[in-house]
Amino acid sequence: MSCFLYFQHFSAARRRLSPALATLATLAAAAALAATPPPLPAQEPPNILIRAARLIDGSGAVIEPGVVMVAGERIVAVGPEALERPPDATVELGEATILPGLIDLHTHLTDRVGTHWEEVLVTTTPAQAALWGAANALTTLRAGFTTVRDMGPTWPYTDVDLRDIVNAGVLPGPRMQVAGNYVSATGGAGDARQFSIYVDVPVVRNLADGVDAVRAAVRTNHKNGADFTKILATGAVLSRGLPPGAQQYSDAELAVAVEETNRWGRFTAAHAHGTGGIKAAIRAGVRTVDHGSMLDDEAIAMLLESDYTYYVPTLYVGVIVPRDGAALGVPEEQIRRSTEMMRYRNATFRRAMEAGLTVGFGTDAGVFEHGHNAREFQIRVENGQSEMDAITSATSISAMIMGWEADVGSLEAGKYADVIAVQGNPLDDITALERVIWVMKGGEVHRDDRGAGIRRDW
Ligand SMILES: [Zn+2]
Repeated sequence: MSCFLYFQHFSAARRRLSPALATLATLAAAAALAATPPPLPAQEPPNILIRAARLIDGSGAVIEPGVVMVAGERIVAVGPEALERPPDATVELGEATILPGLIDLHTHLTDRVGTHWEEVLVTTTPAQAALWGAANALTTLRAGFTTVRDMGPTWPYTDVDLRDIVNAGVLPGPRMQVAGNYVSATGGAGDARQFSIYVDVPVVRNLADGVDAVRAAVRTNHKNGADFTKILATGAVLSRGLPPGAQQYSDAELAVAVEETNRWGRFTAAHAHGTGGIKAAIRAGVRTVDHGSMLDDEAIAMLLESDYTYYVPTLYVGVIVPRDGAALGVPEEQIRRSTEMMRYRNATFRRAMEAGLTVGFGTDAGVFEHGHNAREFQIRVENGQSEMDAITSATSISAMIMGWEADVGSLEAGKYADVIAVQGNPLDDITALERVIWVMKGGEVHRDDRGAGIRRDW
């Protein structure tokens, strides 16, 4: 019987007692309360010291050797040697490099590689998307990506549920901002209804045409738990609809999507390959131009001038679809689209680098294997970005683009203890970022490959 119930019962009985007995009863009640043990004093979390040959802090600095002190879910100090407070435990990472948890601004965690998204509505269930999403979230986290912006599921809002269950601490996964549902025009990128017109999936409503419908779609998404708006400004590579070079939404439709999203105090991310759609999205005031395959010099100049809108290229996926598309079940016509976009994609990125453009880090993981996100780095370095700039792009710059710079994106006292370690030095060989050996998110270790297998001994 709980204390509360006991007391209720006791008080009812007392009303029938004489005053003297009632006093005794009150004393007895007080004694019963006094017997309740006092609450334990709040315990200070242990100080964990993490040390390795070098540390790249995410803002462009290298510290050798590198030490991070963590207490609870936050970083308390960063420096070159053991920090003034004595640690309660030490994680020795030897010749490794410590970095902030990486950020991918363009994932599809609930997508399963090998199932074309246009077939998802008729061959899979939302439960499958959620369960695969849980597995993919763990894979992504263990690959060193402790934060992602998820660019939308095919079964609407399964990403919202995934985010919530990770945030509740039930399942391990990255910190997530989620799109909830694509905002797409009929017959374009994001229109998954590529089956017979006599078949429908009434519960899925992800198409919006005209300014009023676009506004309603944005409101519906945010009502249902989206963190940002994903809008398909142009056609897509992996779609039967409008070609990727063509603008899909009108300027007015893009403008109203951004206006409504801003009213919610949130960002808009635009999928955009073609030049016209890219410029329309920049003019509308989106936060990110994702893919951005056909940025021309004018679009680069517009981005240089803006202190709000950022280019988020996805280069690795452009290698995978032409190379492995057939094995992944991508229709031939869409492989052709990808090959055509590839002609522009790397050249666009090189021109953006030459112009000194600040870029976010995205991959489109989900089109290729989750956990291979870090393969994006090598293509960037091959196309003119320095190793350090590529790392900064995937840490502090992407955190700033998400509006999360106060909490993630660099190793700094006060931020979440999202800390990873990779074998070797990524400044000498950027593919070191593909060799993650240790992952901590919010002070909790999710990967430890030192010695044999996984150790959780501190
Ligand atoms: Zn995508």
